[in-house]
Parts: sequence; structure tokens; C-alpha cells
Amino acid sequence: MKETVEEQQDFVKDITKMSDDFDRWYTDVVRKAELADWSGVRGMMVVRPYGWAMWEAITRAFDDMIKESGHENWAFPLLIPRSYLMKEAEHVEGFAPEVAWVTRAGGDMEELEEPLAVRPTSETIIGALIKRYIQSHRDLPKLTNQWNSVVRWEMRSRLFLRSREFWWQEGHTFHASGQEAMEEAQLILGYYRSIAEDWLAVPVLSGKKTPAETFPGAVYTLTVEGLMRDGLALQMGTSHYFGQNFARAYDISFSNKANERELCYSTSWGISTRLVGAIVMAHGDDSGLLVPPKVAPVQVVVVPIFRDDASRIKVEGFIDGWGRELKAAGIRHRVDWRDERPGDKYAHWELKGVPLRLNVGARDVDAGQVELVDRLSRERRAVPVAGIAARLQAELAAFQTKLFERAQKYQRDNTFELSTLDEVIAHFRERSGFVWAPWCDDAECEARIKTETGGVTIRTIDSDEKASGKCLVCGKPAEHRVALAKAY
Ligand SMILES: [Zn+2]
Repeated sequence: MKETVEEQQDFVKDITKMSDDFDRWYTDVVRKAELADWSGVRGMMVVRPYGWAMWEAITRAFDDMIKESGHENWAFPLLIPRSYLMKEAEHVEGFAPEVAWVTRAGGDMEELEEPLAVRPTSETIIGALIKRYIQSHRDLPKLTNQWNSVVRWEMRSRLFLRSREFWWQEGHTFHASGQEAMEEAQLILGYYRSIAEDWLAVPVLSGKKTPAETFPGAVYTLTVEGLMRDGLALQMGTSHYFGQNFARAYDISFSNKANERELCYSTSWGISTRLVGAIVMAHGDDSGLLVPPKVAPVQVVVVPIFRDDASRIKVEGFIDGWGRELKAAGIRHRVDWRDERPGDKYAHWELKGVPLRLNVGARDVDAGQVELVDRLSRERRAVPVAGIAARLQAELAAFQTKLFERAQKYQRDNTFELSTLDEVIAHFRERSGFVWAPWCDDAECEARIKTETGGVTIRTIDSDEKASGKCLVCGKPAEHRVALAKAY
């Protein structure tokens, strides 16, 4: 098996410039900012505390959203019997190339009677078991979610974006009507949009995938797609409507109000640790990360500046005074007392993308102020310590907004409207971004776009009314406007 893995690259001391080599820049930032690393198992990553803290902030936000609308968390086994996996034909076909199997166990490594798949996703085991809990329409809907990790045996790996194990949530819901299940898929898409835009400050396009890009076994797939700073799209979350496909394969039925047996309608949906990669690629710069305050493990870092023990004591007492106010206000802050030069500390926290830095020296103590530097503008401003907690909260909110607006501008500046395949080919030869174009809904035209542009795909279908104009490929009347991009 030929494997291309970035873990074989050297660990460079300084960060590669983003404009020189985006991929190398990305790896440098992820590793030097201590977000993640490769492990002793090829293609499997370790999420380090600083990266995990961002994921935790995302999980808390999303968990609150789904609890609010009546979803419950539960936990299913890591391993799935082969027979369960084989029941839904399209699903099996879609996942078969990426499944890792457990075939032996115990001290003598005895062969198991039935091979067990390490879950690539849990539709099949949940489908096979949930029918125990669903008898009547009164048992519906079942709104469930689990936080776990899954394994997909990828041949190419990239930290956070593509690794053999990743962490995510998988929601699985079961309903008495198709309409209700479709509304559920749409509700979750709205949550994903909010996670991307309101929390991660990444504007997204959202809508349906084409049949060719639909999740194996689904009727349709909804997606949110963000644009990274190299102009490539990143799928940031998907929500699938299964109709009765999974219920048919796993015989999940209920007695409806007319007392007839009817198959359930189901959905599934997921976001993953890939979103930490999105934070890096949507906001980072040549100095490293820029972390949106709402998910920043450290929102404010305080760098004390002192010459001797006397001035250290003076500065420390001063910081202690208002440090408690920050804590009480729920501001995640850290005072950097490490034995390093201030300049090295500035570089360290810039690399880590901490939104706000406060420099505090003996003269600041006398003046009752601190020097505030934000990671976006890098301007230095003197700020009085009276009312500092409220001031920093306002600064963090403004930072979150500015970061989103900057990303919106980037997305606007890199979104184009074209009408023929030749134009699209020429466009992607020179640059990237999103390109809107009219399409006839034909899978052959879609396949031609991909082959003739070297991998550009339809990321999402415009949910608005029928498109005008002609298909960019065949010239027949267009059915939809679609967003094209090269994607991760
Ligand atoms: Zn066409």
C-alpha cells in the first residue's frame, strides 16, 4: 500500500510563509501552536490540549443547541458486527474501502466467528437496535446523538482534515413522517450554520449536495461549506435525510395512528474535529493562528514586564488586583510568568492566536493602566484598569465581529459568476474560490466539470428558485445554480 503522509516531513523551526506554501504553513501552525500531532499509529492523530480546548468549546455550544430542542445523548459500541454493516447496500458500498476490521482477539489471537468493523459511522448498529425502543407513533420522534470517535482507513492524511481516526458527534433521529424528518435535517443545518458563522466566524454557503455527492444511503444531504484562505472550500458539517431507506434495511417500524405498521423516517448529521482545521485555515496568517474569542482556550494573555524582584512584586500585586475581576466576568485569561523574554512571549501567543494581549510594566502600575494589543490590528492602546472586565468583554465581542467581517470580505472577493465550462477551466487554472454557474442537473455534465477542471466539484446547489440560462457544460436549459470549488 502506498501512503502519502505528512508526518514524514521534517519539523521546520520557523513557520513557512502562507503565500510560499499553504500546506506547509498549515502543518507548521498546527504543530507549532500545539494543536495536534501525529501518533505512533500511522495516520492517527493526537489532539493536544490547546486544540482539544477549541473542540470542547464547539462541543459545548452544539450540545446546548441540540439539548434545547429535545435531543438526548447516548453511547453505542465501538465495534459493529459485519452482518449489520452489510444490510444497507449503498451504505456498505460507500464505506467498504475505508473500514478497519477486528478479526482476532485474546491472548492466543484467536480468530473471531464474525469480523467486527471499527465504526466508520453508527447508522447500522443504531438502526439494528433502535427498533426495540420503537413500537408505536407515541414512541416517536426519537432524537438522539452521540459524541465519539470513528475510524476511516484513509490512505492520505492531514492533521484535523483527514486522519484515520477523528472525533465528532453523530446525530440519529427517527420520525413518524417524512415531513418531520426533513424539518429535522434542516433544523440541524441551521445549527451548523450558527456554529460556523457565530462561533467560528467562518461565513458559509449552505444547501443540498448533488446526488453524486450525497451520503451513501441518504435521499439527500445538506451541507455547510466554508472558504479557506488558499481559496479551497471545506465541508464543515453535513445533515442527511434518509427517507425510509435505513428503516427498510433494518426493519424499523411503528404502528401509526390508523394502527397500521409503517416504516420510520430517519436522519443523521455530524460535525467533527475538522472544524479545528477550519479555524486555522480560515483565519490564520504568517504569524500563526487567529482564534475567534468564542472558542479561544485563552482569550486574554497578560505579559508582565519587570527588571528585578521589587518591580516583579509590584507588577504581580497590581495584576492580582484586577485579575480576579476577569475571572469573575468569565474571561478566559492567563498570566505568562514563564522565564522568557517579553518579545519571545509575544511571539508565542501570537502564534497561538490569542485575541488580546495585555502588557503590564512598572510604569503601567503607576498610571493605573495596561497596554492592550489585539491580534488582528496589532495596535497598542493604553487602557485604564478601572472597569477593565467590561472593557475586555466589549473588545472580545468586537474582535469576534471583525474576524467574521474579514472572512466575509474574503469570501465575497473570491466568489465569481461564470456561465461556460471554458470560463470555469480558465478560472481555476489561474485562481480558486467559489464559482456560481448554471447546471442542467445531469450527472454526466457534473462528471465532466470534475475531469476537465482537475477536480473542481459542485459544493452545493442554490436552494432558491429555478435557475435561468443554459447549463455550463451541455447548453441545455439550466435547472439549478450551483457553487463550484476545489475542496479539501
Ligand atoms: Zn448539462
